[in-house]
Amino acid sequence: MEMKYVPTTCPYCGTGCGFNLVVKDAKVVGVAPWHRNPVNEGKVCPKGNYAWEFINAEDRLTTPLIKKDGTFVEASWDEALDLVASKLKQYQGEQSAALSSARVSNEENYLMQKFARVAMKTPNIDHCARLCHASTVVGLAGAFGSGAMTQSIKDIADADVLFIIGTNTLEQHPLIGRRIMQAKKRGAKIIAADPRYTPTAKLADIYMPFYSGTDVALFNSFMQYIIANDLQDKEFVEKRTKDYDKLKEVVMKPEYSFENVSKITGVPAETIKAAAELYANAKAANVLYSMGITQHTVGVDNVKSVANLQMLTGNLGRPGTGVCALRGQNNVQGACDMGALANVYSGYQSVIVPEMRKKMQDMWGIEDIAEGKVGLPVTRLINVLADEPGKVKAAYIMGENPMVSDPDLHHVEKGLRNLEFLVVQDIFLNETAALADVVLPAACYAEKDGTQTSTERRVQLWRKAQEPPGQAKADWEIITALAQKMGYEKQFPYTSAEEVFKEVAKVTPSYGGMSYERLGIEGLCWPCPTPEHPGTPILHKEKFAHPDGLGIFTPIEWKPPAEVPDEEYPLILTTGRCIWQWHTGTMTRRSQSLEREEPTGWIEINPEDAKALGIKDKEMVLAKTRRGEVQVGARVTDEIKKGVVFMPFHYIECAANFLTNNALDPVASIPEFKACAVRIEKIAEA
Ligand code: SF4
Repeated sequence: MEMKYVPTTCPYCGTGCGFNLVVKDAKVVGVAPWHRNPVNEGKVCPKGNYAWEFINAEDRLTTPLIKKDGTFVEASWDEALDLVASKLKQYQGEQSAALSSARVSNEENYLMQKFARVAMKTPNIDHCARLCHASTVVGLAGAFGSGAMTQSIKDIADADVLFIIGTNTLEQHPLIGRRIMQAKKRGAKIIAADPRYTPTAKLADIYMPFYSGTDVALFNSFMQYIIANDLQDKEFVEKRTKDYDKLKEVVMKPEYSFENVSKITGVPAETIKAAAELYANAKAANVLYSMGITQHTVGVDNVKSVANLQMLTGNLGRPGTGVCALRGQNNVQGACDMGALANVYSGYQSVIVPEMRKKMQDMWGIEDIAEGKVGLPVTRLINVLADEPGKVKAAYIMGENPMVSDPDLHHVEKGLRNLEFLVVQDIFLNETAALADVVLPAACYAEKDGTQTSTERRVQLWRKAQEPPGQAKADWEIITALAQKMGYEKQFPYTSAEEVFKEVAKVTPSYGGMSYERLGIEGLCWPCPTPEHPGTPILHKEKFAHPDGLGIFTPIEWKPPAEVPDEEYPLILTTGRCIWQWHTGTMTRRSQSLEREEPTGWIEINPEDAKALGIKDKEMVLAKTRRGEVQVGARVTDEIKKGVVFMPFHYIECAANFLTNNALDPVASIPEFKACAVRIEKIAEA
């Protein structure tokens, strides 16, 4: 019996915890603490603890599949790749699209965007960051010149005041939640805004149960109070920012008085005032947010409002301050960094700048990569597939499951079924793969080397612990083989993930000083431009990343969500995660220890709303929106605001995304998952 411990990085949330995979007789059989990892110091949450259970699930994909007469038939790699290569050659340019993945490594995301641009010649490359933090990338880049979390996770413990809004950190990023608890233990005060009285909200000294979609009004009222009482950080505003007067003009409007904002948010004026007062007088204050802020038609406005507040109070570039945009999936930060986005190459180098396109062409040794134009982001791609059939005819999807993750699932299915050719590369035959013409079996995180980048911009190593099942291969190997089949041997010569990373470092300035050797135990936070650079845990210490070094205030008016309650659909539906499941459940629902804790979905409803509808706790109800309906069990609880209902989005059998609205933020193209109008009906007894 051979046993070994292989240190690696968790495949679930964006915290980036490290742990050891326990390997017995060449198979992963458990997880053990890795005490030297600086992120989590040996601790893990339940998902991390059971991150080994799905690896050897019986229904892992082990061989390529080709659909013949509506049924999947096993195929050889040669047969499957020949078919995919011939189809992707047939549908070149804007007739095709590729979706990369926040679950796979940096190397694989880099290769997928390179493959789309070099071999498919398409600008249509994107991934699910579009669904979670596209507004952060756009909003923070607009304000600070860099679209990422400004601080390190450890640094959260040094804040005097934490404003937690739109994140249930204790359940969604538990090891970041640990730092919040450390801050509280030190005496930090906590303000929480959430329509649900979550475990995180329960830590708060001041809790604001506000209506989903009223964030901008809340931030503006804070800023009005700060300016009216001369509490802004004048030196910071003067020396490090511009457009303060434009901000002032908007936030000082009577609409943003505490009394008026109380009417908009449903939070008592005196509670908002107490929170604003506490925040304004903090020495070091940090805002933590996640998808409660970003997943709105005003997602970018929300993010810019966070940036406005932090610049106004000078809470940036110092320990304990900052904007902590908590990225969702393990490598969503890395997938963005690697250029798996419709508008940028790796390192956020714009596709529409001719010099950048030339740089990539020179680097990749080819002169006809995809046109230098912004491609279709995934949300707009789905709309094109569904509403303009024939415009995009083929898609290559790696490690994504839009048939559960995207809004308005009937619309998504219609779009995917309109494709003439769909190839899906994944570790399980998920709901999206079931619709494919060809399925390519991939290795999971434990079966390959690579790197991933956490929410604090920390690039860390994955280390291979076991062989992939059957004929499954690492995503980087599959993309390389496919590119070679299409005639791009010179551009895709790779024999290891490390070779790919060396190229990433060459073409991506913020990763320029990184190597596998340097990443070692602790990893490195970008920017790390040279081999001597120690990495950058805190951004914007002396200047912002804009060319003039200044941060930019943006005046923002509050706008209601795209769909608001009315007589027919009188409640607000908001969606999110639970601690036991992950995203579309592809991995966690195959983990017995996690699945048994929350084996299906539910809808939370306030007792007053439930009483008015004659609904009892645990009763099955019908939730209906303008887009669809699902049957789901009711949880009657006073831990949700009256007028709002909540559903987790992991469960296909009662998928919240049959109900959600695909109205998009006009700049970031992120959908409004967090607010739509819904009706709850009692199901008549038979
Ligand atoms: Fe994994 Fe996130 Fe849990 Fe850490 S907090 S163990 S990264 S799921």
